[in-house]
Amino acid sequence: MTTRRDFITTTSKGLFGMAVVPALGPASSSTAAASGTGLVYDRRYLDHVLPERRGEAHPERPLRLVRMMEVFAERGLDQDVMQLSLLDDPLDYVGYAHTTEHVESVRQIDVSGRVAELAVSGALGAVQAVATGEVKNAFCASRPPGHHANNTGAEEGFCFYSNAAIAARYAQRVHGFERVLIVDWDYHHGNATQNAFYDDPSVLFFSTHDWQAYPGTGDPSLTGEGDGTGYTINRHLDCGARDVDMLRHWDESLLPAVHRFQPEFVIVSAGFDSRRDDLLGCFDVSDDAFRRMTRIAMDIAEDHADGRLVSLLEGGYNVEGNALAAAAHLETLIAGS
Ligand code: ZN
Repeated sequence: MTTRRDFITTTSKGLFGMAVVPALGPASSSTAAASGTGLVYDRRYLDHVLPERRGEAHPERPLRLVRMMEVFAERGLDQDVMQLSLLDDPLDYVGYAHTTEHVESVRQIDVSGRVAELAVSGALGAVQAVATGEVKNAFCASRPPGHHANNTGAEEGFCFYSNAAIAARYAQRVHGFERVLIVDWDYHHGNATQNAFYDDPSVLFFSTHDWQAYPGTGDPSLTGEGDGTGYTINRHLDCGARDVDMLRHWDESLLPAVHRFQPEFVIVSAGFDSRRDDLLGCFDVSDDAFRRMTRIAMDIAEDHADGRLVSLLEGGYNVEGNALAAAAHLETLIAGS
């Protein structure tokens, strides 16, 4: 197997190049010795542009990723990650979370429909790399985000395909991991992720969010249905919520549930609109909280899943704040891998 160091020395083309790791072979479960952090990024993620809002650039804009990549490079993080390739043929897998009608409709959307497929490809490429032990964990600096994408045939909440849900099902069905934990720290509730697994006890979904914000879901009293009862955990935070308010839910709600659930794979819906000074969010959460949440998620993965963790970018609309929080997140992933 190519080691992380060998890869960086021989094949890395830098953050702004195309993904360069060749497609891996059939899935294996040889993950015990996995190390290193993977990064998914593709220039084509910048091609997707949503219409202006109120005469200004849409908040879910390409600049979010441009600035993020700059900060990663300024901190030398691009030298410490393995560039991961996107998985080919994402349409083979989007059906895990979407209807044929939805997919056909999204494919009609010029440019953005294709970029949305590439975001799925990135998520699946990261899951494959982690599942096969190529890297221990990975972050996808991708857009558009996914956790609001249901099956309406159109964009919802800046999302087209439910990247996290598709990735979780892919980890289960292609790579054989039975129990998947999805942690969503975006300011907004991950309604599409919840919907995908609401009656499913094989996926534990934990979300901290402002229930009063878009999309108006995430009532903490709703915990799943049927066999999935107890496997959805929603925790509301008020405007002005600080680090301690966020982390309290991780200690009091997530950790006991995880102890019972024993996840074999961990996915993070990493939205940085829960950071202070966001354009759409109203929390007062610091970059240090993202370091701490990352560390806790990694500890969970280490304890139960041989460290397997894939993080997917969701929201985050203060361009600078989003980049700084993502860098804190990636630094932590690298330090622990
Ligand atoms: Zn959000």
